[in-house]
Amino acid sequence: MSYPSFFELAKQFKVIMLDSYGVIKNHNGLIEGAQKTLEFIRKENKLFRVLTNDASRSPQQQIDKYMELGLPGIELHEMLTSGMMAKHFLEQKITSGKIAYLGTENSADYILQSGLEHVAVRDLDLENLDEISACVFLDDEGFDWNTDINKTVNLLRKKNMPVILANSDYYYPVSSNDVSIATGGIAKLVENLLGKKFIHFGKPDSQMFMYAYEQLTKDEFINKNDILMVGDTLKTDILGGNKFGIKTMLVLSGNTREDSYKSQICSTGIIPDYVCKSIME
Ligand SMILES: [Mg+2]
Repeated sequence: MSYPSFFELAKQFKVIMLDSYGVIKNHNGLIEGAQKTLEFIRKENKLFRVLTNDASRSPQQQIDKYMELGLPGIELHEMLTSGMMAKHFLEQKITSGKIAYLGTENSADYILQSGLEHVAVRDLDLENLDEISACVFLDDEGFDWNTDINKTVNLLRKKNMPVILANSDYYYPVSSNDVSIATGGIAKLVENLLGKKFIHFGKPDSQMFMYAYEQLTKDEFINKNDILMVGDTLKTDILGGNKFGIKTMLVLSGNTREDSYKSQICSTGIIPDYVCKSIME
């Protein structure tokens, strides 16, 4: 089956927003040809943003990682992460007590640096929760799944508090066939168990789109029809872009496979404006 060319479609837009994992990079590193795509975006004078549901690294660390993989040239203001959004929220809303977290120390140091103390769920004393004022799901790594997810469930059974999810992805591809459960998947399990609704950051929620849009329209008005969101996941990238009212393109280089994307579009009702093989063709 033949697909339309990303380059031809992208030419029609003023702003190109790319998801990161499954679009520009994957489990092997940079997706082949990514440099050429960024060159094209620069040469065509497109405004450019990366919108990633990743709370494990700061925007600068994401850029450093891309440089290490062989893709220099992404600027700091072009890199938006769900972790950034969660960080802003926590700084505004949680102003006292200690924050309990599930995730790596690196993500905790970056997101929870608002002056409040943070404590890994593993180090919590469930008999003494007086000072704990919020709980944050940061990353799927950095803790023992059995012990610490159970401990989180018990923490939230014992004390009611705001629970923040810094990355809404349910899973991510780790090879051409297999996926791993991401933070959003773990949070969904705990939400379902407890019958509670957490505060979600990252696509499909609108904070990151809104932040990008406000930034982009500071100097000139941009019609939403002139913005293209490109992603590999229907339930995050495409749903988020559709809800925000911008054009969406599903690429088949990550989470969504060529042999099943049509049935997934039918069963979810999430319809991208375009489907392309990848951003390299
Ligand atoms: Mg992705």
